[in-house]
Amino acid sequence: MCGVIGVLGTSQASLRVLQGLQLLQHRGQDAAGILTHDEAGFHFIRNLGLVENVFPKDSPEVLSGEMAIGHVRYSTVAKAKDSKTALSELPNVQPFFMNFPYGIGLAHNGNLTNFNRLSADLRSKARRHPLTRSDSEAILNLFAESLADQTRDEPLAFRHLCEAVAAVHRQAVGSYSVVVMIAGYGLIAFRDPHGFRPLVVARRKEKDGKHSTLFASESTVAQFLDYSEIQDVRPGELVAATLEGEVFRAIPKVTLGRGDAVQTPENRPCMFEWVYFASPQTEWEGVPVYNARIHLGRNLARQIKNEIAAGRMQPDVVVPVPETARIASIALSEELGLPYREVLIKNRYISRTFILDTQDKREKAVQLKLSPVESEIRGKRVLLVDDSIVRGTTSKKLIALVRACGAKEVYFVSTAPAIRHPCLYGIDFPSNEELVAHDRSVAQIEDALGADRVVYQTTDDLVSALQPIPGSGKPEVKPCLACLNREYPTVTAVERPTPNPEVTL
Ligand code: SF4
Repeated sequence: MCGVIGVLGTSQASLRVLQGLQLLQHRGQDAAGILTHDEAGFHFIRNLGLVENVFPKDSPEVLSGEMAIGHVRYSTVAKAKDSKTALSELPNVQPFFMNFPYGIGLAHNGNLTNFNRLSADLRSKARRHPLTRSDSEAILNLFAESLADQTRDEPLAFRHLCEAVAAVHRQAVGSYSVVVMIAGYGLIAFRDPHGFRPLVVARRKEKDGKHSTLFASESTVAQFLDYSEIQDVRPGELVAATLEGEVFRAIPKVTLGRGDAVQTPENRPCMFEWVYFASPQTEWEGVPVYNARIHLGRNLARQIKNEIAAGRMQPDVVVPVPETARIASIALSEELGLPYREVLIKNRYISRTFILDTQDKREKAVQLKLSPVESEIRGKRVLLVDDSIVRGTTSKKLIALVRACGAKEVYFVSTAPAIRHPCLYGIDFPSNEELVAHDRSVAQIEDALGADRVVYQTTDDLVSALQPIPGSGKPEVKPCLACLNREYPTVTAVERPTPNPEVTL
């Protein structure tokens, strides 16, 4: 998972991109970069680490120009095999750029599932040698190759960009929300036809009366930077903003096909953006993230009431696992009429556990990250609420931690349904074997975690929580649920592994 941003049409471009990257930091903490362009050429700063460490104070002056793109990176592909090779990660830090044609820079959020084949084709057919193991570089090459072919004898126009994006859509399989800078032209942004990852476009009237354009992974960036007319870039859509201030939009027509399998493009936004990844201030597909999390909590309350009525649990207190689960936990405690207590205190200087890239680092981070308030836990039956259970590492340690404080019983509630299958589209849900819910029943998961009871959100309740606010005029959201039900939108039914009929929730 990553965050992308682009600003065009203001001398403040790099400053705004820098501020935007800080707002998108939760989407990636491995590395960050900004690329700008002016009459003197390209300027860039890229490095491993957090935004505040990568960019020195004078960055906005160094990164001159009226157009800028930026990226925060969370590596799921092309990871260094061990920490000693961290330097080898540097070439994978985005934005990427190439000098031909025009001078093109690119920042990408997502993951391609056919990267190996694309990479081989680029070498053998296009005679382009990738410099990294990054799928983002493959997208850049596909796009540049098409643009170079089309504009050999004519000046660059919007229709060429449409065809170049169509070329990406035809060849790349997976998720991609992309911001591209083209020297002498402007910025463009496009999303894969399934729209797995978010991307918005917005406009702002500057003091000189001209309009600047913003692209960003989350709408909260546009709000913070005083942009209005905030709209989602639609699945498959290309939006181009020129240096002259014009904006063009189109969804290039393509028949998606891999071999003989023709796919129909469908909007399949990732459910996990609402559950965990996106900022609570963000709105996507007409669904405010905060509102979705409130509904996740309310929906869970119905299940918990049934559990209590059936005598399977008797919680005294609702305790969120910070940070993401807070909003749903508040709604849950309100519905249940139970006290809400923040008694797992977060050490704010430890990175998000889920986002750390090795099991060893994750184990240590859990111990350091949360300290319990023992006096508030002793003798209570504790309902712990987390956004999800992935490997089970965090959940197991937290349950043990709460028990060690003298809790009478510990129940564990997940605002997401059971994650049983890997994600192919950029979230680090690992192999089947690493997922605690894979091939396990709920009773087996309770044993594995050491919980007195585990309750998951149902898939129907999840989907109902991710619907637009009534009256907003936005269409029904049909999210990607592949990590729950194995129905990968880019994988044909024939290619899907057979479900295990033994496992029921
Ligand atoms: S598989 Fe799961 S995490 Fe991955 S895009 Fe689909 S819903 Fe999101």
